[in-house]
Amino acid sequence: MNLADSGILSTAMEAAGYQPVPEPEKAGVIILNTCSVREKAEVRALGRLRELSRLKRDQETCLCAIGCMAQRMGDTLIKEIPAIDFILGTERLFELPRLLAQRNGLPVVDTELGADLSWAELPPSSDNAFSVHVTISRGCNNYCAYCIVPYLRGPERHRLPKAIIEDVNHLVEKGVTEVTLVGQNVNSYESGEVSFPDLIQLVIRETDIQRIRFITSHPKDISGELISLFATEPRLMGHVHLALQSGSDRILEKMFRRYNILHFQNRIDQLRQARSDIALTTDLIVGFPTETEEEFEMTLEAVRRIHFDGAYMFRYSVRSGTWAAKNLIDDIPEADKLRRLKKLIASQKEISFEVNQEEIGRVRSVLVDGTSRRDQNVWKGKTEGNKTILFRNDDDLLGQVVPVRVLRADSWTLHGETV
Ligand code: SAM
Ligand code: SF4
Repeated sequence: MNLADSGILSTAMEAAGYQPVPEPEKAGVIILNTCSVREKAEVRALGRLRELSRLKRDQETCLCAIGCMAQRMGDTLIKEIPAIDFILGTERLFELPRLLAQRNGLPVVDTELGADLSWAELPPSSDNAFSVHVTISRGCNNYCAYCIVPYLRGPERHRLPKAIIEDVNHLVEKGVTEVTLVGQNVNSYESGEVSFPDLIQLVIRETDIQRIRFITSHPKDISGELISLFATEPRLMGHVHLALQSGSDRILEKMFRRYNILHFQNRIDQLRQARSDIALTTDLIVGFPTETEEEFEMTLEAVRRIHFDGAYMFRYSVRSGTWAAKNLIDDIPEADKLRRLKKLIASQKEISFEVNQEEIGRVRSVLVDGTSRRDQNVWKGKTEGNKTILFRNDDDLLGQVVPVRVLRADSWTLHGETV
């Protein structure tokens, strides 16, 4: 979502006459889009803002903190880093070009939430010109016990299908090959009679976009209708990110996730029935308050049984203002959280390795989006399952979709050859 927001803001800044520069040292306006989902993300953002504040060459150079941490901290951020000129929350950040034009030297703090959505109609943009995130909804109504997002991104609101289709058509005209439809919970998308599966079908019918993805789905809301699209729509890429969070029904209930393991497993089985080689990734939290060793083992067991292609794994981090922060004691010692996390990561790494071995010999349709960081002569791309694949080819393939046979694989990357 931050990536999508940064893209929209880039478009708005360029429309106002600004140009991107390669290094912050050269910038007249330095903008940092921030995340608050875990404490670690905020600590990093604060460190980065301190570093950036040293780059302010003169009174004219402007430092802007935008997004979730700006939303959460408001003017207290100026007390921490007095060099900041603009603090704009998750829905006010799009006002930056207008506010810059009115700049009077005084710091500006604006964190209003839940108002007009007209900014969301700005065309999206991205550094990667071939694959772009398109926001379809904003905010979240789920209020999972641990999560700060609903407080910082406001209630769920959905964009009109017409505006989304226009965005995708505009991107196709610019040469974009792939769109990712983004929302905190895309499955609850609803606009008049149009549900999320309807929206995907509209995008398929009314645009020429080659590849469609979406992120993120909530397990309680993923419908049979959506799952069946994986059986019938080849332009829908075979990857679903479905956050499990815990393998224990008791912990899931305490987290207010509103599904149990059986429901989650059923959805996974149905997805695999719809498309046998679908890639499935997840999010997991260890050390949620009161989680016992047995309950942690249940998470490990679920991960082994389901065999996810990949997972984002986190230690529980108290987020002030959430239900859990107000009502539960953060009673799992950090050392135990870390131990559990390391064990889970090690286990998932082995599973990802095993799952990726099954890719060997398969021919994947790959969107080439750059070159390997280590070797400029090696192409890098994404498979339908959103896996990174590296391969050599002397032709200029940037931006093309090409068939690549997988020759070998490790836990994170596939290696192949064009066919
Ligand atoms: N909306 C998505 C869903 O529910 O599937 C998740 C979006 S959330 C911003 C990304 C992930 O961050 C969550 O799935 C969860 O695993 C993790 N997360 C959120 N709050 C957390 C916290 N307080 N401590 C640790 N991890 C957290
Ligand atoms: Fe956070 Fe839950 Fe909403 Fe996801 S569904 S953003 S975890 S509150």
